[in-house]
Amino acid sequence: MRETPQLWDELYEFFVESLEQSEVKLHEPLGEKTTYRSGGGCSVFVEVGNVNDLNAVADRIKNTDIPIAVLGNGSNLLISDSGFNGLVLYLGDGFKSLSIDGEKVFAGAAAILPVVARRTVAAGLTGFEWAVGVPGSMGGAVRMNAGGHGSDMSKSVSRVEGIDLASGEPFAFSLRQLNFSYRESSITSTQAVTKVVLNLAKGNIEKSEEEISDIVRWRVENQPGGQNAGSVFTNPKGDSAGRLIEAAGCKGLRIGTAYVSEKHANFIQVDRGGKSQDVISLTEEVRNRVLEEFGIELDSENHFLGFN
Ligand SMILES: Cc1cc2nc3c(=O)[nH]c(=O)nc-3n(C[C@H](O)[C@H](O)[C@H](O)COP(=O)(O)OP(=O)(O)OC[C@H]3O[C@@H](n4cnc5c(N)ncnc54)[C@H](O)[C@@H]3O)c2cc1C
Repeated sequence: MRETPQLWDELYEFFVESLEQSEVKLHEPLGEKTTYRSGGGCSVFVEVGNVNDLNAVADRIKNTDIPIAVLGNGSNLLISDSGFNGLVLYLGDGFKSLSIDGEKVFAGAAAILPVVARRTVAAGLTGFEWAVGVPGSMGGAVRMNAGGHGSDMSKSVSRVEGIDLASGEPFAFSLRQLNFSYRESSITSTQAVTKVVLNLAKGNIEKSEEEISDIVRWRVENQPGGQNAGSVFTNPKGDSAGRLIEAAGCKGLRIGTAYVSEKHANFIQVDRGGKSQDVISLTEEVRNRVLEEFGIELDSENHFLGFN
């Protein structure tokens, strides 16, 4: 299929007419919807209001090769400066639900991790405290198998539901089917996660609150604020990407509007109004320097949209 302006106009008109609780936009800028705050827009953007509308979108685009992407909280995503010639789905407020029944937690895919972490602690549960410092959505965290402080999503997820936008078919995956590994899962780029079930344990509220405070303090002391998307590279086995980057002399290294954080070498910061291409060039430079110095090739943890 050739993606022409007519295709996007038709798709836009179709969604405006058929979706009941969604916002549809043409050529929506995406940069500000990510924590890097850089990059261009997409052809059609739908902030999906509820499951019915998501099903209607899936029904329209299934079995086509219309390029699609699901945007979560944009905290691990770099958008190309020329944007994404495709359809971007963003799950809106209708996917932010959160309920707790005993040790089970039922979260919409758009619920934000720090909120889920604090709410589960307040309900007397333990096992999700680590997520208080990860600014992603539950859907994005499942796709990434997000983690930290000795834990990750695989330790508590018991079931995930969603819809495959390529086939229009719903899916429900058990923990085993999610095939979690370090910052990876079986979720593909056409599968939109809509619901996540966690299995936590009964805990001690005071102890968990203390853990949350320690994590928040650690984050403030060790990680930079500003425009970044957390760790740029995954840690190679038995080592830390941050240590290697620092030892290769890259702290503070700058290319154009992007620079390696002085506070944590595995974070790349972007200036206000900066360019995604500078992040790419700097990422490559850092990767090359670490390879030359230590013979270790770092893998990206960030995901990319609109780069060919
Ligand atoms: C300051 C900072 C600290 C961070 N610390 C950590 C950390 O400690 N540990 C860690 O693991 N990460 C960390 N991150 C990275 C990031 O927060 C996680 O990877 C998070 O899980 C990404 O979720 P998101 O909703 O922002 O996803 P996005 O960035 O929007 O998307 C990431 C990927 O998930 C996909 N996706 C998003 N939503 C869905 C959905 N509903 N269904 C299917 N696919 C979806 C996207 O298509 C994309 O491929 C940090 C980021 C920042 C900015």
